[in-house]
Amino acid sequence: MTLTANIPVQKTTHSHIEEVDFSNLGFGKYVADHMLVCDYANGTWQTPQVLPFGNLSLSPTTLALHYGQTVFEGMKAFRMDDGRINLFRVHRHHERLAKSLSRMCMAIVPEEVFVEGLKVLIALDKDWVPTAPGTALYIRPFAFASEAKFGVKVSDEYKFIIFSGPVAGAFQKPLRVKVETEYVRASRGGTGAAKCGGNYGGAYYPTQLAKEAGYDQVLWTDARENKYIEESGMMNAMFVIDGKLVTPPLSDSILDGITRDSLLTLATDLGIPVETRPVAIDELEKAFRQHTITEAFGAGTAAIVAPIGTININGVDYHLPAYDDKAIMFRLRDKLELIRTGKEPDIHNWNFVL
Ligand SMILES: *Cc1c(COP(=O)(O)O)cnc(C)c1O
Repeated sequence: MTLTANIPVQKTTHSHIEEVDFSNLGFGKYVADHMLVCDYANGTWQTPQVLPFGNLSLSPTTLALHYGQTVFEGMKAFRMDDGRINLFRVHRHHERLAKSLSRMCMAIVPEEVFVEGLKVLIALDKDWVPTAPGTALYIRPFAFASEAKFGVKVSDEYKFIIFSGPVAGAFQKPLRVKVETEYVRASRGGTGAAKCGGNYGGAYYPTQLAKEAGYDQVLWTDARENKYIEESGMMNAMFVIDGKLVTPPLSDSILDGITRDSLLTLATDLGIPVETRPVAIDELEKAFRQHTITEAFGAGTAAIVAPIGTININGVDYHLPAYDDKAIMFRLRDKLELIRTGKEPDIHNWNFVL
């Protein structure tokens, strides 16, 4: 295949980088100058191209807008100690994108388009990769059914796009979360393991209700019995109970988080015992009463770890002890940061350095 032998690049004539306040990046405030666009039509992926970031023009009959064939990825590029740029676990992100696309009956973006496309795009927008500790270039690859057709069908055309934007490290104020036992995010046999837009749309309403009740997020439970913890908002849920790092096992209703996988691996490297097993709400209640639960947090690319301070279970607020730097979650986060920025050896081959 030579789809990507020579990716055409149309450079912007007006960079927006001067408008960026790199000391106050926030999350989602800025987008970098360029995007990669690749179309699928007539049964094949076309040559991708890099264009100035800009609007799309779509027919109102575009299938994704009606029937929800749309999936995305979220990944980060880091500025390394020596100034080079590291696309973290790029192949693993492609693997997951392929799984999500397959579940949604969409054309699979070739790894070559994903990896070579990222290389060309991020090299071009390299000045957008921030340098301050904790910051990164957030990268958003996504694909949607682009065929304009009036009627329900699996699309025969897709658009794959990658854009990016610099982001700060997430704020670390411990979250208040509510265990959700009425609504569910995902069920056995459903689309919970796919990173598809619909999972987010369906989660907004229960999350909104939790916010109105004074919580930041919900802790999702399983759809069958509402007895076991599944995820924390749109992050994987992790706990420290009896000194062990505990997280629910992957299933078709839990997203295979790359942060989750990385943190579990690092915990093992650090000699922290890891248990991947179902976590019942009852067990959490008991652990709070016996003071054996010492940490709870969400794990995901955006925040890396998001500490949880309060968990509401069946109407009762349970509080975690205050966290300090020695908390396992922060030790794991810091270890990950050292590897991604090249300060410690990358023994698991996670870095993809441009
Ligand atoms: C993206 C996502 C995660 C976290 O995955 P990472 O690869 O660690 O960013 C967890 N849960 C859901 C539902 C997600 O969409």
